[in-house]
Amino acid sequence: MTQIVAQDFVRHRIQVHGIVQGVGFRPFVYNLAIKNGLTGFVTNDSNGVEIQIEGDSNAVTAFLQHLKSDPPPLAIITNMTVDHLNPENDQVFQIIPSRRGSNITTLISPDVAVCPDCLSELFDPTDRRFQYPFINCTNCGPRYTIIESIPYDRPFTSMRKFKMCPECQAEYDNPSDRRFHAQPNACPVCGPHIRLTDGAGNPMTGHSEITTVVDNLRAGRIVAIKGLGGFHLAVNANDPVAVDRLRKRKIREAKPLAVMFPYLEIARLYVTINPDEAELLTSYQSPIVLCKKSGSYQVAESVAPGNARLGVMLPYTPLHHLIMHEFDGPLVMTSANLSDEPICIDNDEALKRLVNIADLFLLHNRDIYLRSDDSVFIHTHGKNRPVRRSRGFVPRPVFLEEAGAAVLAVGGELKNTICLTTQDRAFMSQHIGDIENLESYQFFLKTIEHLVRVLQIKPELIVHDLHPDYFTTQWAQKQDLPTRAVQHHHAHLAACMAEHGLDEPVIGLIADGTGYGPDGTIWGGEILVGDYTRFERFGHLENMMLPGGDAAIKAPWRTAIAYLYQSFAGEELPTELIRRWDYEPIIEMIATTTHAPNTSSMGRLFDAVAALSGICPEIRYEGQAAIELMQACTSIDVPPFTFGIKSEGTDKIMCVRPLIRDVAFALTDGTGLTEISNRFHRTIIEWFVKSAKLARHSSGLDKVILSGGVFQNAILLEGLIPVLERNKFQVFAHEQVPTNDGGLALGQAMIGRKYLETKNQEG
Ligand code: ZN
Ligand code: ZN
Ligand code: FE
Repeated sequence: MTQIVAQDFVRHRIQVHGIVQGVGFRPFVYNLAIKNGLTGFVTNDSNGVEIQIEGDSNAVTAFLQHLKSDPPPLAIITNMTVDHLNPENDQVFQIIPSRRGSNITTLISPDVAVCPDCLSELFDPTDRRFQYPFINCTNCGPRYTIIESIPYDRPFTSMRKFKMCPECQAEYDNPSDRRFHAQPNACPVCGPHIRLTDGAGNPMTGHSEITTVVDNLRAGRIVAIKGLGGFHLAVNANDPVAVDRLRKRKIREAKPLAVMFPYLEIARLYVTINPDEAELLTSYQSPIVLCKKSGSYQVAESVAPGNARLGVMLPYTPLHHLIMHEFDGPLVMTSANLSDEPICIDNDEALKRLVNIADLFLLHNRDIYLRSDDSVFIHTHGKNRPVRRSRGFVPRPVFLEEAGAAVLAVGGELKNTICLTTQDRAFMSQHIGDIENLESYQFFLKTIEHLVRVLQIKPELIVHDLHPDYFTTQWAQKQDLPTRAVQHHHAHLAACMAEHGLDEPVIGLIADGTGYGPDGTIWGGEILVGDYTRFERFGHLENMMLPGGDAAIKAPWRTAIAYLYQSFAGEELPTELIRRWDYEPIIEMIATTTHAPNTSSMGRLFDAVAALSGICPEIRYEGQAAIELMQACTSIDVPPFTFGIKSEGTDKIMCVRPLIRDVAFALTDGTGLTEISNRFHRTIIEWFVKSAKLARHSSGLDKVILSGGVFQNAILLEGLIPVLERNKFQVFAHEQVPTNDGGLALGQAMIGRKYLETKNQEG
């Protein structure tokens, strides 16, 4: 009898890998063990969570099943191993302190929007955290932005300077409490506090801080609010004068500003929200979603001038909820910075950098270690797709098909992100931004240093863009590690492949603005055939001369004149289309090929057609001309403009000149913007489909990748995919990382890993 009992009594060691720290995993395990009458322990280690469990074998089996089937909502288990040990006759089940180890592969949770339980306590007058702006629990609160090192424990976060009061400590120590081992646990007695100052940093006393902030917002003032991943600048979205003042002070003329609404139902009065968008808006990631404006209510036109969509988000910190509850209307919430500089995170830094922008500062004393902007998504072709993958998502990895080497990819120059890989994971950084000023460059350096530390990844190789002048390239080449240059559009292709777990040759249709080509020209409208190892430029847009190179990007009118002139070479130029501009110097530049590099850019073709059609002769934010041209499009069920595909050697070139001529003739005939836009979009779709067929014919491949920043264009993406699918192609577009340069580093990293793998195989 005793023998049978002994046989049924087991001890298992369970190693759990994935996102299992900072997500309430140990309390969950504890409660599960107690429920099943088991003894042993659970601990965080640098590989994830280790559990040793002892008791009746049936109870252990039940425990394991539950562990797999019903983990806490924020946890992601990527791998679980079970070993059998000899029983040690433990008397209790306990949570034991974290161990630090050398082989650190654990995953850190992203920052999490306040959970429903905390939210109801926040507005419960009888709760001891009533209206406390830093309420959190194991299911919600700050994570990535407050972590300095791992394992994820309070002494390694910016909460270490707050000693928990006895009540908080009791919650923290009680395994059945929702705040059991909640590292940022705090209350009004022991935790961080807000304080309000005027524009000069002098304390403002009197009413409650929240009421004062709301009164000032109603009066049209600009308030800098310290949040989770940095400061926001807030202003009443219904007050055009206030919004204009913010734009002037921030030197942000026209780029759309995001708006926070108190509830989903109020947002629905201003924009249409489909079920996928609603799910994302109310998710714990709580990003900005670019929703279509609807007719019923409107925020001030200057919030997103000329834009058919509005960036919408919901409150995601307790502080947001307190403000929005009282303000009860749409509030512009934009990253607090000057245009093109990184978001502000530090109190003193904010007071200094924002002194001429904000009228009031709502500060707090919980430090932000790493800035993280709001993430941005757009719903196109049936899916939510990232435009910017940042807060709420970082540092959650992109899981890769295969394990591979540790590499660091440093991205491009605009919308920069970096990527660190290890095993089967690619960690994309938060949005760093355009690396063209000192602040962004320093943020770039800090992000690399921080990610390398918290992920404990030692890269063997640094991968960078082929462009020799990028700051990122130059930084890479100064490091004491081997480097590898990757062509910009090859990286776009590889990024999309990696997301979909593809490792085979594919056809890549690339619609992009600017990427340095190995031939020294600027690429952007490309048909590539390749995989992670190599690629071939199968086809591209005809090379056109760009007057002044990059200077043309901000002035589509220059591109329009240049493209028109080149398309009518030797013929009478329809000058009525360009007479409104000082066109002769531009023509002179092209005629004498002075500072006029060749480009096959898709972005510039959009610019030229937009400016010829009379919209956006100058842009005030990246991609504006293409966005406004797209917004004019009502149907792609129209005949395309004339274009041809000619062979030059083995390259298949799309002839841009006949297209521009056709556009010019249509315009001189009085054709309106809508029809131009409709037919132009149709033309680009037809070119891609024809090119894909030619590429399939020559390569035998039928998997097609869509990548590059121009694919943020919903008309293009939604128009192209069905036609390709009707033609029996398997089509892959971005869903996890941005199709723009924010996703570039993932592709670079994949190409770098493959390079190392091949090199090692060759010995
Ligand atoms: Zn909570
Ligand atoms: Zn407390
Ligand atoms: Fe690009």
